[in-house]
Amino acid sequence: MQTIDKFNFAGKKAFVRVDFNVPLDEQFKITDDNRIRAALPTLKKILADGGSLIIGSHMGRPKKNPDPKFSLKVIVAHVSELLGVPVQFAEDCQKADAQVAALKPGEALLLENLRFYAEEEGKARGLAEDATDEEKAAAKKAIKESQKVFTAKLASYADCYVNDAFGTAHRAHASTALIAHSFDVDNKMFGYLMNKEVTAVEKVMKDTARPFTAIMGGSKVSSKIEIIENLLSKVDNLIITGGMTYTFVKAMGGKIGNSICEDDKMDLALELMEKAKAKNVRMVMALDAKIADKFSNDAMTAFVNVDEIPDGMMGLDIGPKTEKLFAEVIKSSKTILWNGPTGVFEFENFSSGSRSVGEAIVEATKNGAYSLVGGGDSVACVNKFGLADGVSYVSTGGGALLEAIEGILLPGIEAIRGF
Ligand code: AMP
Repeated sequence: MQTIDKFNFAGKKAFVRVDFNVPLDEQFKITDDNRIRAALPTLKKILADGGSLIIGSHMGRPKKNPDPKFSLKVIVAHVSELLGVPVQFAEDCQKADAQVAALKPGEALLLENLRFYAEEEGKARGLAEDATDEEKAAAKKAIKESQKVFTAKLASYADCYVNDAFGTAHRAHASTALIAHSFDVDNKMFGYLMNKEVTAVEKVMKDTARPFTAIMGGSKVSSKIEIIENLLSKVDNLIITGGMTYTFVKAMGGKIGNSICEDDKMDLALELMEKAKAKNVRMVMALDAKIADKFSNDAMTAFVNVDEIPDGMMGLDIGPKTEKLFAEVIKSSKTILWNGPTGVFEFENFSSGSRSVGEAIVEATKNGAYSLVGGGDSVACVNKFGLADGVSYVSTGGGALLEAIEGILLPGIEAIRGF
């Protein structure tokens, strides 16, 4: 497989798929430029080699072409500043031939939002709500055909293809996966960010040092079932925490008061516990809870056993006995995966459990464990508590990371590795 380190971009035009889907405020100012910064090592290496950049990205979920609300034009100046070279802008990603032809070594061109074309995602737009199955099938066929033309155009701009957009690696879109077919194996590669993400996932899911502990938190079991099931054949310890705790506790006959619970998932919770037993996985759950009389930071609180929550009260975080238990399990681990908080960490008074899990992970990491934090809210947790530097890797990919942990092969990764 080709690697960005080995590849000499001198005199080459590189199509680099990045994830510049940055949050903007009402004045279209970037409020967090981490996604742009994350791609800089790749972009800078290509420029430093004497290559030229054709940068492709999506922004938001536009439904038409053009859709000014989602234009990438607003980020051009900031990308230029971070990259240290002027960045040109192609208003139409399918009509950039002249600008691409004029690109010299060391120059960069940013294409307008690729999702302005329905072909990027390959999903037909504008179908009438009462469209017949036949009409839907015809529209699907048509978009798949025009997607080939769209993809070929993007590929025609470049000598090589670099994918540095882990955030969209779980999508088989034109610029994230299909385009890779147009380049032979020596001329397509991961960017540095993608490399780091792929390596981190493999360190956890494949080359696992044991014991391996996964901490699954968050609000609902239903959104994590596939992940939990896949993890059951990989981990030694599975800590189940956050709101989903109460579905398990109620399923076992405990009293959970008004805590969040998915009644229709109680059988599934018991099934998961059986599976864990059969696979010799230690499932670790809360002993005690910090309960509240309302869903608010200034609720009245108390600590009780997790299965003795009085009516009218709800569990919003783990209690001190559980903090201690989780920390012991985490500190005895050599590989740690953290997805989802132990409680409503957004409220200061219910953030202690998530903080203590984060701190235990940092300590385990200091003692040689490998720790991966990812998938939404646990990233927010480590950032909020200033712990990001103490863990081995904080993933930039929400959905992509979760799918990778579910054991799904990601199209963006397979397209580089595969054919
Ligand atoms: P998820 O998006 O499924 O990872 O869930 C994250 C959300 O779960 C966070 O916003 C937390 O506030 C929420 N959460 C965690 N524990 C609880 C709980 N015990 N009750 C209600 N919400 C919770």
